[in-house]
Amino acid sequence: MESLEFSRRTRSGDLNDLGDRTFDVLVIGGGINGSGVANALAQIGISTVLVEASDFASGTSSASSKLIHGGLRYLQQGRIREVRNLIKERDYLRRNTQIVKDIEFHILITPKSWRKWEIRLGLVIYNLLGHRITFPVFHRNRGEYPSIVKGYFSYLDAMTDDARLVISNICSAHNHGAVCLNYVRLTAVERNQRGFTAKISDSLTGKEYVVHARMVVNCTGPWAAEVMKLTGTGNRPGIRLSKGIHLVLPAGMFPFKNAIAFRSPLDGRQLFIIPRGEVVHVGTTDNFVDSPEDRDVSQEEVTYLIESTSAIFGKIDRSSIITTFSGIRPLVSESSDPGKATREFSVLQDNGIIHVLGGKLTDYRIASRKVAGMVARNLGISKDLEGLPVIDYGRPATDDPVQYDLDHECAITVDDIVRRREGSSIYSLDAGASMKKEAEIHLARGGAENKG
Ligand SMILES: Cc1cc2nc3c(=O)[nH]c(=O)nc-3n(C[C@H](O)[C@H](O)[C@H](O)COP(=O)(O)OP(=O)(O)OC[C@H]3O[C@@H](n4cnc5c(N)ncnc54)[C@H](O)[C@@H]3O)c2cc1C
Repeated sequence: MESLEFSRRTRSGDLNDLGDRTFDVLVIGGGINGSGVANALAQIGISTVLVEASDFASGTSSASSKLIHGGLRYLQQGRIREVRNLIKERDYLRRNTQIVKDIEFHILITPKSWRKWEIRLGLVIYNLLGHRITFPVFHRNRGEYPSIVKGYFSYLDAMTDDARLVISNICSAHNHGAVCLNYVRLTAVERNQRGFTAKISDSLTGKEYVVHARMVVNCTGPWAAEVMKLTGTGNRPGIRLSKGIHLVLPAGMFPFKNAIAFRSPLDGRQLFIIPRGEVVHVGTTDNFVDSPEDRDVSQEEVTYLIESTSAIFGKIDRSSIITTFSGIRPLVSESSDPGKATREFSVLQDNGIIHVLGGKLTDYRIASRKVAGMVARNLGISKDLEGLPVIDYGRPATDDPVQYDLDHECAITVDDIVRRREGSSIYSLDAGASMKKEAEIHLARGGAENKG
């Protein structure tokens, strides 16, 4: 589909027109789940407005490990059905989108790692669930890795750019007529005879608006419990929050084309080194926190990743760290060990409001379909949801990507461009410094006409 204008200007117009309309659905939150739900609803002709308190993908959905995967390690906990569903989604996204690519993983066997038979068994099941009939071969280390590594097993999974996956779903929803508003926070919701009246606030201007919608869907990830309180729903399932951080290091320090999975010699946790062009991402940690705002990267977390990686690959100097990023997992679990908590999403409906809790990047389409089905039933509409949502948006090649971000992907700030539209702050050696300058020039140039 051709790129429609989707900019600060159209955003302003959309905000001003809100009062004249009653939408079928108000979606709260513009991460992977909110964008997928809005895209699915728009694709079946349900009028939808989505509000995102900050930029699209500014929550957990730009801070993940960016893997589209079945979760090989979940097999250790017997979570076969979960893995099978995730693999099915991985394979759909690999085949049908431009932004999900295959990546080969090497699982390193070291003195404190998993045993070979465990890996072999896991990979046989994992590959079978993905309809791949291959016998996992142990490759002896012939100098590719430091001598502490005895060898490795190889398998295929997939990876993406998480923020771009969200932006693509948002732009696709916009193309299908959904109103998608970044920097707009839900502040109150009231139920009335015709549905809901919600108060929202535009953080760019401080203005307040009212939205009328027949139904509300809460897709606020780690903020879900807070929004449940706003809507009068108790924090019924145990929603736990777990922080995960990543280090961004120069790719030259790990000259492998493949990704690496290894066990931290410090505590046995599985860690990844994932090549991302000029850099690699090393992660991740998994520690309970109390609030979705607890995103600061602590020295202890950095030390843990540096020491775990150094124990295998030789001393890594802290000064090599280009940058870090961190995100909060929303987990629906009572488990006292975040590593063992299920990553499956759950959807519940209370007093006309649908809440999407937990989940992964990988299974956002399953969650989106489930919600779209519930909405359609509530509105008394019969729709075929098979295969939805699709990403009906492709970014054309352009000489001026920053201007494109402003005109067609509703970027508002420098960070929207550098971090979430171009990704250069976490995928480049200069942490996005040159892209930042370019973005600043564009924003200064377009200042007058871009003002909402
Ligand atoms: C370290 C880490 C690594 C991960 N790695 C992977 C991986 O490799 N593969 C995978 O499949 N999954 C992975 N995940 C899980 C996945 O990233 C998350 O489950 C997913 O991104 C959650 O998306 P979401 O849309 O539910 O939440 P979010 O992306 O957090 O979106 C919620 C949005 O709601 C907005 N919001 C909050 N309150 C309001 C309000 N009042 N009004 C309007 N908007 C509001 C927020 O600003 C936010 O943008 C990882 C998670 C973490 C933390």
